[in-house]
Amino acid sequence: TDFKSDKQPTWCPGCGDFGTMNGMMKALAETGNDPDNTFVVAGIGCSGKIGTYMHSYALHGVHGRALPVGTGVKMARPDIEVMVAGGDGDGYSIGAGHFVHAVRRNVDMTYVVMDNRIYGLTKGQASPTSRSDFETSTTPEGPKQPPVNPLALALASGASFIAQSFASDALRHQEIVQQAIEHDGFGFVNVFSPCVTFNDVDTYDYFRDNLVDLDEEGHDPSDYEAAKKVILDSDKEYQGVMYQDDQSVPYHEQHGVTEDMSDIPDGAPEDAMDLVREFY
Ligand code: SF4
Repeated sequence: TDFKSDKQPTWCPGCGDFGTMNGMMKALAETGNDPDNTFVVAGIGCSGKIGTYMHSYALHGVHGRALPVGTGVKMARPDIEVMVAGGDGDGYSIGAGHFVHAVRRNVDMTYVVMDNRIYGLTKGQASPTSRSDFETSTTPEGPKQPPVNPLALALASGASFIAQSFASDALRHQEIVQQAIEHDGFGFVNVFSPCVTFNDVDTYDYFRDNLVDLDEEGHDPSDYEAAKKVILDSDKEYQGVMYQDDQSVPYHEQHGVTEDMSDIPDGAPEDAMDLVREFY
């Protein structure tokens, strides 16, 4: 697609992030976006490299802070498409506080988390979503605590769109990301994106064998109680849109942030600069 840059990814061959990114690029193109109106923000981790591999405006920020940057971009330019990418470490550990607040603000952007249940870039430490008995270099006997359930965290924070997909189920993953982009508000997609180098438990085979597709189960994402049930069901690995609030109103509309930038009062940027000069 037009969204592919000429940089060759340095991800390990077979990494789930390839499939996750391909689906994101195709979903952006399918929803009528182009690189000129798209801003990709990423944090730190293997996932953080995505802004380099995608052809769009991009910012590779500090660890766990991609969501506040994305929020700022969307507030300044509500007319452009903002996509934020991260990993389970970046998003649910150091970035967990930002996650809660971006969700509750319902900022109109798409947040795609490449969840491989391990820290890959730093070579295999337990992450917030690692299983309690997963033996890693930092947890030789496993973390011995239950993993974070990011979908439940989103629901408890008042999310208006919660979904999960699998990097290797290309068409379904793309379709789910498309739905998140088209959603009016914060579109959150947790993606099973296997780390083939450091996680020998949550593998492609494991997800292929255990994935349950919510569409095939007749799940209704507008039914909050049904959503709660699948989100809190820790025995199954679900794929699909778990919850979508049809009445969702994004933050910039709730607060009258207009798409017409000419509404900014004359001289405002200068005033802001005066303040900065005064401060320093
Ligand atoms: Fe992918 Fe894991 Fe390699 Fe990182 S370390 S690029 S997550 S396979």
